[in-house]
Amino acid sequence: MAPGGSAFKEALEFHSTVADCDVANSKSENNITPTKGTVVLGGGKHGVYSNNGVHELLECPVCTNLMYPPIHQCPNGHTLCSNCKLRVHNCCPTCRYDLGNIRCLALEKVAESLELPCKFQSLGCLDIFPYYSKLKHEQHCRFRPYSCPYAGSECSVTGDIPALVSHLKDDHKVDMHDGCTFNHRYVKSNPHEVENATWMLTVFNCFGRQFCLHFEAFQLGMAPVYMAFLRFMGDDNEAKKFSYSLEVGGNGRKLVWQGIPRSIRDSHRKVRDSQDGLIIQRNLALYFSGGDRQELKLRVTGRVWKEE
Ligand SMILES: [Zn+2]
Ligand SMILES: [Zn+2]
Ligand SMILES: [Zn+2]
Ligand SMILES: [Zn+2]
Repeated sequence: MAPGGSAFKEALEFHSTVADCDVANSKSENNITPTKGTVVLGGGKHGVYSNNGVHELLECPVCTNLMYPPIHQCPNGHTLCSNCKLRVHNCCPTCRYDLGNIRCLALEKVAESLELPCKFQSLGCLDIFPYYSKLKHEQHCRFRPYSCPYAGSECSVTGDIPALVSHLKDDHKVDMHDGCTFNHRYVKSNPHEVENATWMLTVFNCFGRQFCLHFEAFQLGMAPVYMAFLRFMGDDNEAKKFSYSLEVGGNGRKLVWQGIPRSIRDSHRKVRDSQDGLIIQRNLALYFSGGDRQELKLRVTGRVWKEE
């Protein structure tokens, strides 16, 4: 899911002479009207990356991240980001001279005049940002990839929703269901072993979107509990358009929960720790299960609907 690298690079090199020229112009304008001296690297609103060598100058030669003030340089002019400066023990990684404490104000100023496309351009973000606000945007960009919602193992897969749905199905063998109502039985033969927490994930398609139904056992303070909750595979502003209810019971008793699905932008852990779901004490869960308390047999039913 990495943005395609090689085509990108070629475009950069091809236009580098134009870029140098643009920067020279913008510099002289800068003296009079700083706001006008903006170099747009995106080639217009739709952010076709049309140039430049300047962008490469702003890449730290050590860590290859883009540099932000303070940008440092050695007496020979080799530049370095402030993170790397801390790590190289005052020795320029390029020429091995003593680094000293020289700031590269000129490059910081050039950066200020740049506008760059969001790094999630290939995922659909068409926005262009002043150099120094680009990072902040990217942390919240709605096109940034989602993390895999599967709990129970630290899965590092990221991607857009369709990719994650396939990943859940193919790699985690998660059950997929269609429809806005559900009815699941959770059975566990040895419910007293809460330590190796059981958890289950079911994904269902409803209103053309996907929801993750989590069910798990964990220790809440001193008390062993079961918890069921729903997460929405999409952003928070969309998650809020839905509501859901969960019911569990037995022996003539019933617990009902009504809530709003949480976005998978919120980690599974975060939702669990905020207790934003149906929580069933183990004693009660075993009572619902009937029988001799040696087996957990819970039937959780639920429904999702759209709020108008
Ligand atoms: Zn660096
Ligand atoms: Zn140097
Ligand atoms: Zn963006
Ligand atoms: Zn995964």
